[in-house]
Amino acid sequence: MTRAPFPLKLTLVVAVALIDADNRILLAQRPEGKQLAGLWEFPGGKVEPGERPEETLIRELSEELGIAVKEPCLAPLTFASYPYETFHLLMPLYVCRRWEGFVQPLEGQALKWVKAGELRHYPMPPADEPLIPFLVDLLV
Ligand code: C5P
Repeated sequence: MTRAPFPLKLTLVVAVALIDADNRILLAQRPEGKQLAGLWEFPGGKVEPGERPEETLIRELSEELGIAVKEPCLAPLTFASYPYETFHLLMPLYVCRRWEGFVQPLEGQALKWVKAGELRHYPMPPADEPLIPFLVDLLV
């Protein structure tokens, strides 16, 4: 069996498809200065040590968008697995239709509500793109 020269570090990031009353999904643009700047992603972030993925999402949605989500409103849909050059990304995608508060770009990021059929028009990180068909099946 051929082995990779070294094992890639596994990074766990959680992401969410926030879905509004018009069945649109929220995309956030990665800001300048970050890796993959300018690309559109599903909101979320890195799972910190000791956190459960749902806790991470609740924290990130509060920090980035100013909304409060309750854990039972988060349903896992699928996950992405992608080998970036320096780490292997594992990224569960959750769906969330209910939250409290108004979505605001608290970190200066551009935000867009997008219909599932239009997601492919927004350039995304390579890990996020394969998630689109799951959302199209769910919503179209
Ligand atoms: O958001 P953050 O920079 O902490 O995420 C760590 C890495 O995970 C990013 O640099 C990017 O390579 C990857 N990522 C991704 N898709 C997302 C969020 C993060 O591919 N939706």
